[in-house]
Amino acid sequence: MMLGYLLARAGVDVYVVEKHADFLRDFRGDTIHPSTLELMYELGILDDFLKLPHQEIRELAGQIGNDTVTIADFTHLPTHCQFLALMPQWDFLSFISKQAATHATFHLKMRTEVVELLRENGRVTGILAKTPEGTLEIHAPLTVGADGRHSVVRERAGLEVINLGAPMDVLWMRLSRKPDDPGQTFGHIENGRIFVMLNRDDYWQCAYVIPKGTAEEILQRGLESFREDIVKLSPFLRDRVDELRDWNQVSLLTVTVDRLSRWSLAGLLCIGDAAHAMSPIGGVGINLAIQDAVAAANILGARLLKGTPTEDELRAVQKRREFPTRATQWLQVLLQDRVIRRVLGSTKLLTVPWILKLLVRWPFLRRIPARVVGVGFRPEHVKGINERIAA
Ligand SMILES: Cc1cc2nc3c(=O)[nH]c(=O)nc-3n(C[C@H](O)[C@H](O)[C@H](O)COP(=O)(O)OP(=O)(O)OC[C@H]3O[C@@H](n4cnc5c(N)ncnc54)[C@H](O)[C@@H]3O)c2cc1C
Repeated sequence: MMLGYLLARAGVDVYVVEKHADFLRDFRGDTIHPSTLELMYELGILDDFLKLPHQEIRELAGQIGNDTVTIADFTHLPTHCQFLALMPQWDFLSFISKQAATHATFHLKMRTEVVELLRENGRVTGILAKTPEGTLEIHAPLTVGADGRHSVVRERAGLEVINLGAPMDVLWMRLSRKPDDPGQTFGHIENGRIFVMLNRDDYWQCAYVIPKGTAEEILQRGLESFREDIVKLSPFLRDRVDELRDWNQVSLLTVTVDRLSRWSLAGLLCIGDAAHAMSPIGGVGINLAIQDAVAAANILGARLLKGTPTEDELRAVQKRREFPTRATQWLQVLLQDRVIRRVLGSTKLLTVPWILKLLVRWPFLRRIPARVVGVGFRPEHVKGINERIAA
């Protein structure tokens, strides 16, 4: 959606196809990072965006065993918004699609599911999609696979996927929030358990991290036992865990961390989760997908106005975005192996590790995790169309 908006803004004729009828999908992350907010500032849409209901997170805190530690402080970031915004992804997508729709060259086709790639002389030349009215072919000088972690486009293109593995899966659910609950966005780490709670004003968006492949076992133990596990981690939820009446209220995220060895072929480029599914650590998947979109628009926008990008020009997008992807995944895999795996396998009471004790002792060090999470490696900036044509 973001790439469609940026290209349409640059005057490129764009079709965005979405298989669902709306954006009201299951929860798949609500974080809008300071670097994404900065892009909106550059695009002149930040003020309108901030008028939509959202929460602003200035600090991230965690409870480890019996101690509470502030891990990240966003208030010193070199960005216009020194906070992380929480907004349902469907509101964010609707907002971006409305901005895109102000450009005559933007076309959004809902209920249009890509089922096959069209090819001519070894090049991808468009897509074949299923729609309620029948099949539809869209021919294009460039097809972009931005269809997420289960990408049909990357699968049909036969692009090689490198799987980096993950020791955990996540159960997501909502519980109501009361005015006298703790206000911060909270992670609670105990021996064998990790529970993350995002403050969404009138409810908590909760993530219960479990060892990979154990969801079935938890289901077998029953909802009552699951509710008790939650209460052990956050006793103040005792008066409302009964809101979980059915497993339908709990969704499973099977965590995968992977990336394509090649993001493009002649006529085709993959970005976002389709090019690299991220671990939920740091909640950076949305930000990385958006940064890819900006890089792709910066590199290819002017080129698309003149004609078809070459394979080298498509490869330039991967070249630009591969370092931030690899660096972020390296850090995520390190934390998965050194922290998550150990915590999930531990039976002893946890104490604050020395590295986090440094954050307690010298609060200015909290700016480092804030920078890594809030801005990330190699943040992109929107280039103006005139500048791009001149380049
Ligand atoms: C439960 C969960 C929690 C998450 N929490 C966070 C978080 O807190 N913060 C964060 O930054 N990230 C989070 N993520 C990751 C984040 O959702 C992704 O990294 C991000 O959405 C990737 O964006 P994308 O545009 O590449 O793919 P997606 O957001 O997955 O979008 C792909 C789109 O393509 C559509 N589509 C798929 N196949 C087809 C097809 N064949 N034809 C047409 N359309 C198709 C899909 O319907 C979807 O709308 C979470 C993910 C999950 C699942």
